[in-house]
Amino acid sequence: MPSSTVENYLKAIWSLQAQGGDELVPVGQVAEKLSVAPGTATTMMNQLLKMELVDYIPRAGVSLNEAGRRAALRVIRRHRLIETFLVEIMKLDWAEVHDDAEVLEHAISDRLLERMDEMLEHPTHDPHGAPIPTSQGEIPSDGNAILSECRPGDYTLKRVRENEPSFLQWLSGLGLKPGSELTLVERNREADTLSLMIPNHSEPLQISLPAAQSLMVKARAVSS
Ligand SMILES: [Zn+2]
Repeated sequence: MPSSTVENYLKAIWSLQAQGGDELVPVGQVAEKLSVAPGTATTMMNQLLKMELVDYIPRAGVSLNEAGRRAALRVIRRHRLIETFLVEIMKLDWAEVHDDAEVLEHAISDRLLERMDEMLEHPTHDPHGAPIPTSQGEIPSDGNAILSECRPGDYTLKRVRENEPSFLQWLSGLGLKPGSELTLVERNREADTLSLMIPNHSEPLQISLPAAQSLMVKARAVSS
C-alpha cells in the first residue's frame, strides 16, 4: 500500500491534471500545491517513477500513468466517502470535515470504507458536490460550469471547489450549499464582482471573481 505522502502526491498530480486538461504538469506546480520545496517534489517524482505510477520527464513535467490514476482515484474515493460519512452519519458541519478526511483517508481499512459506503447507500457525490469515484475507479464527469465564466441567468449550485472552512461557513451562513438555486444578475466589470440573487435575500449579493471561480453550477430551466 502506498504511503500517505505518496498518496498525497498522486492526488495533487491528479487534480492539477484535471484542471489543466490532462497535459504534463510542471513539478513546480505540484510542489506549490503541496507546499513543499521544488527539490523535495523532484526527489518524489523519481520515487514515483520507480514505483511505476507516473510518466516523468525532467524539466517538462509529470503525469499519472494508468496505475497512478487508479491509485489516486482510490484515495479520492476514500476522502469523499469519509467526508460524506462525517456529514450524513456523524452530523458534522460540511464546512469542517475536509481536514479530518485528509487524515482519515490514509488510515481506514478497505473493510471500513466499504461499510461506510453501504451505510450511506452508495452516494454519488460528497457534501461539497464532488463526484465520488466508484470502487472500479470510474469517476463521472459532471458537466458543470464555473460560475465566474457564466452568462447572466438561472443556475443550480452543484459543487463548491474550495476547502477553506471560513469560506464554506460564509456560504452556509447565506444558506448556499450544493443544490441551492441562484440567479446570476450581472458581472460588474469595474469591481470584478458578480451580482447574485439567492433565496431568502431581497438584495443582490456581491461576490468576488475568485470566490465565483470555486462555485460550479448548472443552468436551470425556469418554468414560466
Ligand atoms: Zn475534502
